[in-house]
Amino acid sequence: MAERKLSKPHKQRVIKILIAASEVVPFAKTGGLADVTGALPKALRNLGHDVRVVMPLYRKIDREKYGIKDTGKRVNINIALHDHEGAVMEGVLPGSDVPVYFINNREFFDREEIYRTPQGEYWDNNERFMFFSKCIPEMIKAAGWVPDVINCNDWHTGLIPVFLKTIYANDDMLKNIATAYSIHNIAYQGCASKEMISHAGLPWEIYNMHQLEFYGGINYMKGGIVFADVINTVSNKYKEEIKTPEYSYNLDGVLRGRDKDLYGILNGIDYTVWDPATDRFLPVNYTPETIEGKTEVKKKLLEECGLKYKENVPVIGLVSRLDDQKGLDFIANIMEEMMKLNLQFVILGTGEENYHRMFHFFRDRYPEKIAANIKFDNGLAHRIYAGSDMFLMPSRFEPCGLGQLISLKYGTVPIVRETGGLADTIKHFNFKEKKGNGFTFQGYNPWDLFRAIRVAVDTFKNRAVWEKLMHNGMKENFSWDMAAVKYVELYDAAMHNKNLQNA
Ligand code: ADP
Repeated sequence: MAERKLSKPHKQRVIKILIAASEVVPFAKTGGLADVTGALPKALRNLGHDVRVVMPLYRKIDREKYGIKDTGKRVNINIALHDHEGAVMEGVLPGSDVPVYFINNREFFDREEIYRTPQGEYWDNNERFMFFSKCIPEMIKAAGWVPDVINCNDWHTGLIPVFLKTIYANDDMLKNIATAYSIHNIAYQGCASKEMISHAGLPWEIYNMHQLEFYGGINYMKGGIVFADVINTVSNKYKEEIKTPEYSYNLDGVLRGRDKDLYGILNGIDYTVWDPATDRFLPVNYTPETIEGKTEVKKKLLEECGLKYKENVPVIGLVSRLDDQKGLDFIANIMEEMMKLNLQFVILGTGEENYHRMFHFFRDRYPEKIAANIKFDNGLAHRIYAGSDMFLMPSRFEPCGLGQLISLKYGTVPIVRETGGLADTIKHFNFKEKKGNGFTFQGYNPWDLFRAIRVAVDTFKNRAVWEKLMHNGMKENFSWDMAAVKYVELYDAAMHNKNLQNA
């Protein structure tokens, strides 16, 4: 299917953009969503737009370090007939002048983690993010800064377009705000019981199959998809995939219904954070011209992880949420065969406890070949991207994927399954023409993954070919500058749709 282009902006003007998200780098991160919401605003700011960010103030966020101040403004949000106060705090996105608003509420956000502990999700996540979403229109009223467009992200903020088009539809201050809804991962939708309609103070008319109703309950992401003026997801391939039952977690029909307003925009990488030439987490910096430095990082990485450095033995890195999505069961299936190959395997991840156990089990079985770091550690992640020779992403599905893009920049060759953003960015290496930037496999089975690993390990033996492959990757440019221009076009499309509706 031909790629549909967003129309060019009609006129160059400063757009007032509010990005609402549950996580933003460097304040709080569990995955790629935070990378996007931390980098996109800066790129939009560089284009001259008035962009601001809003997120919850979690306990983990260091108020002193980031100079977060109380604005003195308060919003009162009613949920389930109880009033909850949101204090509006303010800081800036480090390395920029982008204002960041934080919603502070002890009951909902003063907790050890963001969404879940290893034992499971917080039981009241639906209330927590309903509260956060309901704060946004009220915060805008209190602050007196009215955005042209709100960019909502994932299920946590799916209710914002719903509130704007129902409760605030006739509010003079808010009624012209357009909304863009970005889907970073359709597997997490925010499903709740139908009583949440009353709890939110929403009208029962929208409890129908075309709007908020979803198999007898409600679905926050469906709300975002149905009520936003435009929708996008984070790669073109994933945009097509989520319109099919195989990938959509039951939202394919809803998405097909909004096909003409659905766009795919590939994420970028923040090269001020992810660049081996300047990376402050590395013991040695390197560039394509000083690629020897990478070997030094590899030696230090192995030392840090308690493995011995062995010349000519490739290190495969994996940095990932440990979740079914990531194809980790494929790895479990082939681990014994994989361990017969001449390689070492460095894992960094946290998530489902069964995967914690799985990697500990294999580490105990192959202590000289496997390092299992079961934790979240940003610095170590940087060193794995840099110090590994290959990077593994055998995902069942992958909306965009950042790990493979980061790896390319660090001269670490990705081995990926051809799905979502992985398919859009990684091209299988062609030995004859020396083209391509990684190794890919298609099948939804472990043995295709094993074959790809074996080909990579064999190719690694030929240093000249391997260097060509590394350079192919390091030359690529997935910067946010390009992606930000597309987001501006998306916001234009949102405002255009909103104008049509209001006309
Ligand atoms: P997802 O959003 O599904 O988790 P992405 O590939 O889009 O996957 O983004 C994952 C991001 O989170 C990357 O920046 C990756 O380096 C980081 N990350 C994942 N797990 C860890 C971890 N245990 N420690 C440090 N960083 C991690």
